[in-house]
Amino acid sequence: MRSILLLVLFTSITLQAQKDQLSLDYYLPEDVTYNTAIPTPEDVLGYVPGTWHVSHDKLVSYMKVLAKASDRIHIEQQGLTYEDRPLLLLTITSPENHNRLEAIRQDHLALTETASERLNTNELPVVVYQGFSIHGNEPSGSNAALIAAYYLAAAQGPKINELLKHTVILFDPSLNPDGLQRFAYWANTNKSKHINTDPQDREYDEVWPGGRTNHYWFDMNRDWLPVQLPESRARIATFHKWHPNILTDHHEMGSNSSFFFQPGIPSRTHPLTPALNQELTKNIGNYHAKALDNIGSLYYTEEDYDDFYYGKGSTFPDINGSIGILFEQASSRGHAQETDNGVLTFPFTIRNQFTAALSTLDAAVGMRTELLDYQRDFYKTARSKSTKGSYVFGNEKDAASAYHLAEILKRHNIDVYELKENFSENGKTFKKAHSYVVPKNQRQQRLLEAMFETRTTFQDSLFYDISAWTFPLAFNLDFIEEASTSRLGRKIDSLEMPKGVVTKSNYGYLMQWHHYYAPKALQQLLDKDLRAKVAMKPFSLNGKDYDYGSIFIPVQNQELNSTELFTFLSDVSKKSHLTLTGVPTGLTEGIDLGSRQFKPISKTKVALLVGEGITPYDAGEIWHLFDTRYAINITKLDVKNFNRYDLSSYTDIILPNSWGRALTPKDAQHLKDWVKDGGTLIGFKNAARFYNSEKFMSIKFKRVEDTASNISFEDRNNYFGAKGIGGAIFEAKQDRSHPINFGYKNTTIPLFRNSTIFIEADKDSYNNPLQYTKSPLLSGYINDKNLDALAETVPFKHNRLGSGHVILFTDNTNFRAFWYGTNKLLMNAIFFGNHM
Ligand SMILES: [Zn+2]
Repeated sequence: MRSILLLVLFTSITLQAQKDQLSLDYYLPEDVTYNTAIPTPEDVLGYVPGTWHVSHDKLVSYMKVLAKASDRIHIEQQGLTYEDRPLLLLTITSPENHNRLEAIRQDHLALTETASERLNTNELPVVVYQGFSIHGNEPSGSNAALIAAYYLAAAQGPKINELLKHTVILFDPSLNPDGLQRFAYWANTNKSKHINTDPQDREYDEVWPGGRTNHYWFDMNRDWLPVQLPESRARIATFHKWHPNILTDHHEMGSNSSFFFQPGIPSRTHPLTPALNQELTKNIGNYHAKALDNIGSLYYTEEDYDDFYYGKGSTFPDINGSIGILFEQASSRGHAQETDNGVLTFPFTIRNQFTAALSTLDAAVGMRTELLDYQRDFYKTARSKSTKGSYVFGNEKDAASAYHLAEILKRHNIDVYELKENFSENGKTFKKAHSYVVPKNQRQQRLLEAMFETRTTFQDSLFYDISAWTFPLAFNLDFIEEASTSRLGRKIDSLEMPKGVVTKSNYGYLMQWHHYYAPKALQQLLDKDLRAKVAMKPFSLNGKDYDYGSIFIPVQNQELNSTELFTFLSDVSKKSHLTLTGVPTGLTEGIDLGSRQFKPISKTKVALLVGEGITPYDAGEIWHLFDTRYAINITKLDVKNFNRYDLSSYTDIILPNSWGRALTPKDAQHLKDWVKDGGTLIGFKNAARFYNSEKFMSIKFKRVEDTASNISFEDRNNYFGAKGIGGAIFEAKQDRSHPINFGYKNTTIPLFRNSTIFIEADKDSYNNPLQYTKSPLLSGYINDKNLDALAETVPFKHNRLGSGHVILFTDNTNFRAFWYGTNKLLMNAIFFGNHM
């Protein structure tokens, strides 16, 4: 007891001492003098960094003041976050370099082009992109950025002059402004005057969903390749504008750890990354080791993390001729916490990040020509190995999905071409304006290959993140890998989404459901209280085929007269970029427009369960999909108050994946009563267990029997790791006549799966509208036992309960906002769930 008291006393004394004494000197190198005309962070914030968690608005204020005071810094706004916070970029270099910055940039880019041999790399500055705290609740990065920016503006002497002469620094002080702001609020509002280091204090236990993610709860450090979020778009544009030689990504990890810098686990490097990349990463690491030795900080390298998924900030550069570096600092989460290594203070975490930021710049100067030569060779080698031919992708019935994939390619400076003329191959038709051609032989060919390849064999069986992301599969597009370049039409400078068209009718309008934005258009109709029906069978009219799920809008008996309806539909088609066909008659080949096989579509009101226990990413993806893609209002119901809500106005409730138990038995009963009264409940992934235990649905799970043999104690974690499905792509058969598959034109669909929930197929085949094929692996890693188990199981189940419906997806159909190909499955559940 006494020793504990003493320890507590000692801790509080040191913390108090640190608080009293905390000054910039704690962070800054001693052997440097500073220009007193440059304002310190304290001058603007009112405190020394580390005393409080900087809010994003204050960080912005300081960076602006600094840029004004220093001729080494140019500041610009790269873009805006969802919450309209500025995404800042500080370009930091010598005033002489600033005067000829555009020429420097052009020369630098020329390194990646043909005739790059003419450049003397000894005369070129090296370009370094330093990015901080992409996870908002890993704040030591952005707080260290205050000090690093001050140092770069104010330090004086030969060393800094040499650095600024030979380096262009692209300084991004906060990669996730909305998350940083959210976390700063939490840590600051819970801080005690006498800092409490008890890890159980509320200060260290952030409220759901936490500050890690952006506004829609996305992990932005997975979006460097898909580029679906505004923060990524701005940053990727800067990346491609400059092609930096090093890119650093400052993070935090568990509080009991020390400090990690890359390289990560060598066997888990993506095979498309050149071996020299990892060697250079290691050489850069030597600079970090030396700098951390100097301040006595513990660290480690090569034992954790990896460079496999190119959608992470520290791996994306590796497929772009650059070196990505991940830093992970043990997190104090709030202001100071007891840990295995003693009390870990916030200032200490900031100092390590600041130190690593400077050692990165030391490495950049020390290895400058080596890095520039590496980049030149990366592109030169790619050119010499250049493969012939081109990729063609498209969907003859949905121009929008193909457009959005082309859009991603364009964001990565990949050249995209129109199709020269329509053609068919292997039973697939590629139509102009619905398809794109991408020649393989181009500057970004390695990045292109990394986005389009399918891979099913791997050196390692463990992955820090997903093992597959093949884009044409994620978009569910028809796709040819070995097309002739004679398919190339005009090169596309700026992409244009097809314009929506409506032909006027006094009888009715038809809309195909294949189009990506068809649900958006339907929602607009329902919002206007217009009547619409869905075709349960295909038919033809005026020589045009209409598939399952076609939407019919009669002219008669609507709230709008014929002219008003046409005007309104013109607006709908324009906003959703799709075609509405006016028809003069109800007589068709197949079901007539007055047939009972046209089912009425009811107006929906959708709720989404969120809060403690629900996976924020999965919930956020659904919120983002409804709100930003389909313009459908979705009510976020917090699980903590669930049994107090009046649910009667909702037609659909979505239960995203959850861990542990998000809903109590009382909540379950409340939900079940609502379903029985006619509601449609749509659950994802772990909802399967909840459904089964609370008797919403009876599920036969298929279990994989596996015991460890010849697995040592040391290897046990790898053994368990390899048993998971971290994220791979699998093929399922589709029964196109089932409403869950309306709007899909093929009989198979690629699904993203990152769970080991295997569900036996129903004995009646019509109850298995989606079913994994016999050998379902399309791309990514899965072990043999899981693959055997997965074959012919079902990713979807539906049953009736009272007057309502219960729907289950074992897989995430909305993964990271780039799985466009499966978004319609959820929309079908929403609009047609009551016709299943
Ligand atoms: Zn992180």
